[in-house]
Amino acid sequence: MTERNPLQILKECPKGGVVYIRFMNKEIEFVEIKLNDDVIFNASSPHYLLQSMTNTDTNDVEATVNQIKELIDAGADMVRVAVPGHKEVEALRKIRCRVKACLDPTMQHKQILLVADVHFLPEVAEKTASFIEKIRINPGNFTNYRRAKAHLASTEEYQQGFEAMALRAKPLIEICKKHNTVIRVGVNQGSLCSRVISRYGNTAEALVASALEWIKIAEKYDFHQIVFSIKSSHVKTMMEANLLLYRKMLEQGKVYPFHLGVTEAANEMEGRMKSAVGIGALMLHGLGNTFRVSLTENPVHEITFSKLLVSAIQDIKQNNYAQFSEGVLTIRYPETLVEKWWAGVGALIGKWWLNENLKDIKIENSYFTIDEIEKLRNCTLQICNIRKTHTEIIACPSCGRTQYDIQTVLSTVKQQFAHYPQLKIAVMGCVVNGPGEMADADFGIIGSANEKVAVYKGKERISDFVSVQEALQILQNSINH
Ligand code: SF4
Repeated sequence: MTERNPLQILKECPKGGVVYIRFMNKEIEFVEIKLNDDVIFNASSPHYLLQSMTNTDTNDVEATVNQIKELIDAGADMVRVAVPGHKEVEALRKIRCRVKACLDPTMQHKQILLVADVHFLPEVAEKTASFIEKIRINPGNFTNYRRAKAHLASTEEYQQGFEAMALRAKPLIEICKKHNTVIRVGVNQGSLCSRVISRYGNTAEALVASALEWIKIAEKYDFHQIVFSIKSSHVKTMMEANLLLYRKMLEQGKVYPFHLGVTEAANEMEGRMKSAVGIGALMLHGLGNTFRVSLTENPVHEITFSKLLVSAIQDIKQNNYAQFSEGVLTIRYPETLVEKWWAGVGALIGKWWLNENLKDIKIENSYFTIDEIEKLRNCTLQICNIRKTHTEIIACPSCGRTQYDIQTVLSTVKQQFAHYPQLKIAVMGCVVNGPGEMADADFGIIGSANEKVAVYKGKERISDFVSVQEALQILQNSINH
């Protein structure tokens, strides 16, 4: 049978349970994930769970519980909390008890899911998995294969690396099986294992290969409570990798739930638009079961925009607001709520950008001024790499690992360094993940303890950990030279 476009398959795929679709004449299983008796994810369901992540210090139980409550009130179904080390495991245990105790069981948010975010320390993941609903792990961290070891792994080395990872993951999977804990396998382009990069390059294929390894590992131990995310700050890579993973899952006959997201999206219009383009396009094609709009802002804003995105997608599915002709996409989405309009415009652009050779974008909406429309257009042209008008600034949303005022620093960097369209500058919350996640930026500011930050040029740190003011000066000098 001829291979078919995965997008077509998504459009034609009926929803619900085990279904037969005309893909290589196979019956495809869409995995259901249950907590106790409740289905929380069904890979074939069109319903989206909204999620965000706290950015308080996890050890500050009071502040974290309060932020989780704010997120629940805003409409979050799921909240992730950073667990950088053993100390935070105990803090999270207290946070979970406090949050569960204050939920009103008669309200719809009784099913709030707390997710532990663990990097680098499998033993911390194992400790946390015994009491939390869901745990996010990074496959890039379950490996002894050093990132610095850049040579091409031989077939034997590659297989050995995979087997070592499978062995390392076994205790965590056993604990998750025992306690009915869900695992999110969170593959990030900035923290891919160098073994996988050595074979595939730092590409969409590498991201997918890393996810597929974890399907193999989980199924080897007869564990199926897994959700997959593939994220990148490159919006198109993220879209293509998710679709490729979906296609691979179809080929294997079993589709797991997807968590969608664009990393280091930063804030304001640009941050929202990157998510609207990347996540929105995949939603329009029927992919995804949960998503996070990452913003370097108050996390409540992530939920606000997530709800608008879901609502815009519903509008777009019912009406044709876009026309494509000779490389030019014209969008006439007549929404008057500004951020919902952005969300709808972004999703439509993402959908067409995926499938067509997009050369220009026109946006029409009589409710908004010419300046407002032009600002949105410039932002989308930049995201789609059609025309660069300003510096590309990426920034992580921050989390419990951040120990400086990243939101203020991001605003300053955006103001002071806006006029370098050829540059990409990163503002990152911590040294744990920051250097890896910003690896392809030209310059970066990365936070450490006590409000100190360091300046990076590419992957190299070029300053000590200094005050923000000093770092901005060093950054300016480095750009000038
Ligand atoms: Fe948290 Fe940012 Fe560090 Fe990622 S890079 S772990 S979001 S502080």
